[in-house]
Amino acid sequence: MEGMTTSADTPALDDAQRAQIIDRLDDVLARVDRAAERAGRDAAEITVLLATKLRSPQEIEVAIQALQERGRRIAVGENRAQEIAKHADPLLADNGVPRHFIGRLQTNKARDVIAFAELVHSVDRPDIAEALERRAELADLRRDVLIQVNTSGEESKGGFAPTAEAVAPILERLRASERLRPVGLMTIGANTSDEAAVRASLGGLRELRDVLRAQYGADELTELSMGMSGDLEIAVEEGATIVRVGSAVFGARPA
Ligand SMILES: *Cc1c(COP(=O)(O)O)cnc(C)c1O
Repeated sequence: MEGMTTSADTPALDDAQRAQIIDRLDDVLARVDRAAERAGRDAAEITVLLATKLRSPQEIEVAIQALQERGRRIAVGENRAQEIAKHADPLLADNGVPRHFIGRLQTNKARDVIAFAELVHSVDRPDIAEALERRAELADLRRDVLIQVNTSGEESKGGFAPTAEAVAPILERLRASERLRPVGLMTIGANTSDEAAVRASLGGLRELRDVLRAQYGADELTELSMGMSGDLEIAVEEGATIVRVGSAVFGARPA
């Protein structure tokens, strides 16, 4: 498959490469733990999702194993449908790790995404919900989804506007679905070094969730997927239940 990396055509990792991934992962976990402690939260409840991007099965497997050894709640997240096939690699197949889809969706990839992901983070427009629902129906599957919200106002980012009025119609549509279950909200924080702006965007997701809960029920929308390598502390402090980390574990993104 185009763009696909398999363990057969990528070299095994040497000890130094493995150690580097594990060291970086331990740094990430220490950051999560300290932020959780500051916020009076139990870090064990926070899912550490590995954003696997263009990483090789070997790299992903090392990180998964280390997270499992440390007793963490984990998931792997793909952001490109073209990379899904990578997870059928012998190093990654049947490892029992929940698989999520975190990237911008195209309706013509909905079938692959439904087959792959038990949680889709990125329902960012109504036609995506329709495509996922149709594919879930055809595959006779039920899937959890998150509604993606654009909390930063950055035009490059997808998602519904961060108001209850903007999100209510898609939430109601998903609540009525036989196949898709809305379990929370997802956002990508403001892309800036201005901590106040990042906190406003991530805290805004939690506030929006609280408003929707008051409207629809206290046991709705339990998941908040927010926080990446650069802003995971703020996200944990603001209530993230899933943090999505890539570069802080695997190093700078391959081109
Ligand atoms: C790549 C990616 C991440 C992880 O980003 P890093 O900054 O590398 O940690 C998180 N969420 C989404 C949607 C991504 O595409």
